[in-house]
Amino acid sequence: MSRIPVAILGATGTVGQKFVRLLDGHPWFEIVAVAASEQSVGRPYGDLVRWREPGPVPESVASLVIQRCAPPLDVTIVFSAIEAEIAGEVEQTFARSGAYVVTNTKTHRMAPDVPLIVPEVNAAHLDLLNVQHKNRAFSGGIVANPNCSTVGLVLALAPLHQIFGVERVFVSTMQAVSGAGYPGVASLDILGNVIPYIGEEEEKIEREAKKLLGTLSGDGVQEARVAVSAHTSRVAVIDGHMATVSVGLSQRATPEQAIAAWTGFRGDETVRGLPSSPAHPVEVDLRLDRPQPRLDLERGAGMTVTVGRVRHCPLLDLRFVTLAHNTVRGAAGAAIQNAELLVTRGFVERPA
Ligand code: NAP
Repeated sequence: MSRIPVAILGATGTVGQKFVRLLDGHPWFEIVAVAASEQSVGRPYGDLVRWREPGPVPESVASLVIQRCAPPLDVTIVFSAIEAEIAGEVEQTFARSGAYVVTNTKTHRMAPDVPLIVPEVNAAHLDLLNVQHKNRAFSGGIVANPNCSTVGLVLALAPLHQIFGVERVFVSTMQAVSGAGYPGVASLDILGNVIPYIGEEEEKIEREAKKLLGTLSGDGVQEARVAVSAHTSRVAVIDGHMATVSVGLSQRATPEQAIAAWTGFRGDETVRGLPSSPAHPVEVDLRLDRPQPRLDLERGAGMTVTVGRVRHCPLLDLRFVTLAHNTVRGAAGAAIQNAELLVTRGFVERPA
């Protein structure tokens, strides 16, 4: 079966390179176009990219000439990993031209007619695309994945929310430097240090979590009534966002009941069959000093969130630690899984 042609916008960046590596050999998608800023346009990808992924640049992509982030790129799906400041118009232009844009940028995430999706959590929200088609002159569409620190939190909250109801969340993150792109935070600022501020990150976690845990109602999403208080810090770790979380529940749960909720959590049948879906979206590690970024990040090829240190909380009900791979589950892997969902749900046709 021939594969669906896809393009990557921002292909030379941290997330763009992760797309190139994860899509190498993908059963459904084939990279036929890469795009970046004006200064990179016209150069072969393999010559220009400052490659930061393990192994060589995949041969089929190395020879592609970098194009402008504008249609036509002759593709069905466009993966977007460009800066938010420019993403708005660029992504809309592609959606108008008939492509499905699967984006990592914050620009469209909170638009009422844009599905913000973590497939195991809220695959049904993809129906917002029908509203988008009505509202806008798009023959394609825009689908977003959440901020890299939101996704690990929400995958841990969703199983609890479904069974016990989550009412209050207090979360404090320790976020890797790769979350800031390349070259990102200066080494002299971060080595041996912790920076207790990441621009707009706390607001993103607080608002995106409510949309993701919300319910589709009419032509929009009714946000979950969850109070979220977030603190975010940048730490000297290359990959992997950790968070300490305390939750208040509508119905009391013991640590053992919470562990059972996480262990049994899968997502619906359609989602379980996607090539990028891990067998276990959430794994619980009961060892006292886990999870750790260096040891636990690659679970489920980077798509599994690890939960640990599950215990009673004297302020709220339960407390625990989460770990998620920020450039896989928090960015490129998440977008690829969302694109796979677009295919299985029939928004994008697979070539015969
Ligand atoms: P990055 O490493 O700085 O890469 C930025 C990319 O955008 C490069 O390919 C760059 O191309 C391109 N670009 C810059 N200015 C452009 C312009 N005017 N027109 C077209 N392309 C332009 O950033 P990143 O970390 O990959 O992040 C990309 C997006 O994903 C951001 O919106 C970010 O917030 C989001 N995101 C990142 C993460 C993460 O963990 N890093 C997670 C989730 C979401 P040149 O090489 O030609 O300059």
